[in-house]
Amino acid sequence: MNKLFAANWKMHKTSSEARQTAADLVGLVSGRLKPGREVMILPPFTALTPVAESLRGAKNFLLGAQNFYPQKQGAFTGEISPAMLRDLGVTFALTGHSERRHVLGETSAQVGSKTAFGLSSGLGVILCVGEKIDERKAGRVEAVLEHQLREGVREVPRDVDPERLCIAYEPVWAIGTGEVAGPEEILEAHAFVRRMLVDIFGASASRMRILYGGSVKPDNAAEIIALDNVDGVLVGGASLKAEDFSRIVLA
Ligand code: PEP
Repeated sequence: MNKLFAANWKMHKTSSEARQTAADLVGLVSGRLKPGREVMILPPFTALTPVAESLRGAKNFLLGAQNFYPQKQGAFTGEISPAMLRDLGVTFALTGHSERRHVLGETSAQVGSKTAFGLSSGLGVILCVGEKIDERKAGRVEAVLEHQLREGVREVPRDVDPERLCIAYEPVWAIGTGEVAGPEEILEAHAFVRRMLVDIFGASASRMRILYGGSVKPDNAAEIIALDNVDGVLVGGASLKAEDFSRIVLA
């Protein structure tokens, strides 16, 4: 099971900026990546093709998408299907990112439909879960994670290929705030997510990757990635500069 270093560029970068950043990253990382690691870039839709071109031939680099619509095709103005993404070389996509839940109003049930549809369409899925600060203060971390996880995978076949379903634990209060969860908080949440996955999927859950996301930076990445049940990181702000993200990937 490779450790996954995923760069979520959100709504940043024109296609030419994205092409250059991806090329710079490949230049900084190629030949230096530790065995058992892979790198994924998730640019905006408009930059998928230029990033794919920059990644062409680069070993252990993957292309991801930040979102998709859970239908094959049809009258869904402004939306993008999994097949359209796969056609551009996308292998994984996010579902349930906190900005889609809390800024764009996606419900856990919608996240669940997307997760199942993405997987059945041949995409790998990174399902994001995480509590808000008031939920943590109220002692509801496990309740929130359990709800988001169970709803998120409700329609996913129990014999799904475990390598194609990743969970990203992203405490909402740590995303884009500079406030990183402490090692104890990460260990507890990841162990809980693993137990939930084993409860739902059985033994194959040991091969599902659990990523941490929330203000990962070059100077905290090594400590986080070494923790039990941390199988990778999902990085926003610190993935926008090739130099910063290369230091995370090489940590
Ligand atoms: C994210 O958006 O998934 C994220 C973790 O952002 P940041 O690294 O900026 O906190």
